[in-house]
Amino acid sequence: MAGDHFFLELEPPNKNLSKAAHVVIVGGGFAGVRACKALAKTDVRITLIDKRNFNLFQPLLYQVATGLVSREDVATPLRQLVGKQPNVQVLLGEVSQLNPSQKQIVFNGKAYSYDYLILATGSGSSYFGHEEWRSFAPTMKILEHAEEIRRRLLMAMEQAEQMPDAHARQFLQTVVIVGGGPSGCEMAGAVSELMRNAMQREFKQLDPTTTKIYLVDPGERVLRAMPEGLSNSAQRTLESLGVEIIFKGRVESMQPGEVIMSTPNGEQRLQAATVIWTAGVKPSHLGKKLAESIDCELDRAGRVVVEADFSIRTHPDIRVVGDLCCYKHTKDGNPLPGMAGPANQAGGFVGKDITALVSGSTRPRFDWFDFGSMAVLDRIAAVANLRGLQFSGGIGWLLWALAHLAFMPDRENRFTLLFKWLIAIVSQQRSAMLLTGMPSQHIGNDMPDAHFPMPNVKGPSIATPDAALKAAMSYYSQQVSGISAQPKAGTDESSEDSVAANK
Ligand SMILES: Cc1cc2nc3c(=O)[nH]c(=O)nc-3n(C[C@H](O)[C@H](O)[C@H](O)COP(=O)(O)OP(=O)(O)OC[C@H]3O[C@@H](n4cnc5c(N)ncnc54)[C@H](O)[C@@H]3O)c2cc1C
Repeated sequence: MAGDHFFLELEPPNKNLSKAAHVVIVGGGFAGVRACKALAKTDVRITLIDKRNFNLFQPLLYQVATGLVSREDVATPLRQLVGKQPNVQVLLGEVSQLNPSQKQIVFNGKAYSYDYLILATGSGSSYFGHEEWRSFAPTMKILEHAEEIRRRLLMAMEQAEQMPDAHARQFLQTVVIVGGGPSGCEMAGAVSELMRNAMQREFKQLDPTTTKIYLVDPGERVLRAMPEGLSNSAQRTLESLGVEIIFKGRVESMQPGEVIMSTPNGEQRLQAATVIWTAGVKPSHLGKKLAESIDCELDRAGRVVVEADFSIRTHPDIRVVGDLCCYKHTKDGNPLPGMAGPANQAGGFVGKDITALVSGSTRPRFDWFDFGSMAVLDRIAAVANLRGLQFSGGIGWLLWALAHLAFMPDRENRFTLLFKWLIAIVSQQRSAMLLTGMPSQHIGNDMPDAHFPMPNVKGPSIATPDAALKAAMSYYSQQVSGISAQPKAGTDESSEDSVAANK
């Protein structure tokens, strides 16, 4: 490989480490950062490579999308987080190739050697083969997605404020969220709060109660991974917030401004200015790259099937952790869930295991501790399932807040978040409501999330801030307002409104 690529040799971060084993960690998310920290006191030289220069706390992306917190509150520069660790070198780059037989990786066109490789590149979103939906219904995986959703929501509200036609206003105030898992439910609750409460005082023409939020799920209950009682409680809370949940709804097709679903009662069409996708996850492409270069198994989703120590059977020097791995050595045989907790624990374990290997001490065993799961639904209401103990309402929210603050790797952000949450509870104000900027496209080419919107795909472009909304409105004017364009006998309002909507 070095023959094809310039071979990169860097001085170790610390001269005492010139003969130490070299651990290369790819991905500075939950698992990668935790592995790095677990190796802090070990005599190894660590290189942490990430295509972004920051660690992102994905569980709070929905709060960025709904203006509760801003990007800096959920993201921390990797150099700030682990760069001060004496044995760590942080590099910005996208790993594109793996060559396990030569113990090398390629990033930014350069070959780089390792003794141990930890792959922690996480996952992206999946549209189940319908990549063309990506630009109609943004997902929530990277910061730019959350900011794009916020921009679409705010732009729709701004347009609604100056829309005289009642039907068109309703269209602008309608949001469809696809996926009734934790992200979809959290998003639905937060959007409802944003539109009904925060906007109530600030918008003079809008009636927040006419806002429509649909949550579409193909199953029979929301939060399917939780016990039924908590699912029902979550459903009740969301419904009390005005969220209409459509069960057994399977999205079949999409265009700007419209979602077409199959339901047990036949086809159902929802017209909405804003559509948000929280439905599918797909592992990082490096799993496939690994399987192309060595004999290793991928599960049906494309995750790398690993041994009990997260290594590959034929390559004990390679560990795969976090969302990218399929770890089945659990007590019940079910794979570890793709969540922050397992990613954190696996990263910590692998760090300790490599420490034991280089120091010749007894190797640890991985025992997965399942803390449970939770989802916040309203300003101070959440559901939480903690090892069989079920909580909802205010206590659920308190547990949710404590867990998220504990998991947040940056101490300063913990204080900022707590402060912003408390302000929001008391004042019902949101602190991050600026309509700004274009999403950066500089996130690499091989992840589907990088193509946002997809090139060469018909649909709204985000090249101009309100393009998505314009496409939706244009669809609305052509298809939907045809209904409202029929003058209602005896009402002056109807004809004037329809003209305005069609403009
Ligand atoms: C919207 C949302 C909400 C969530 N809510 C929760 C929740 O409430 N609770 C919970 O437990 N879990 C939640 N999760 C899941 C949780 O965030 C993931 O399980 C966790 O982030 C996985 O950690 P990871 O370290 O495997 O990957 P990540 O945290 O995704 O980190 C992967 C890193 O690898 C980098 N990378 C990727 N490819 C490359 C490459 N080729 N070269 C270099 N770097 C690369 C990325 O830039 C990234 O920094 C949520 C996820 C999302 C998207």
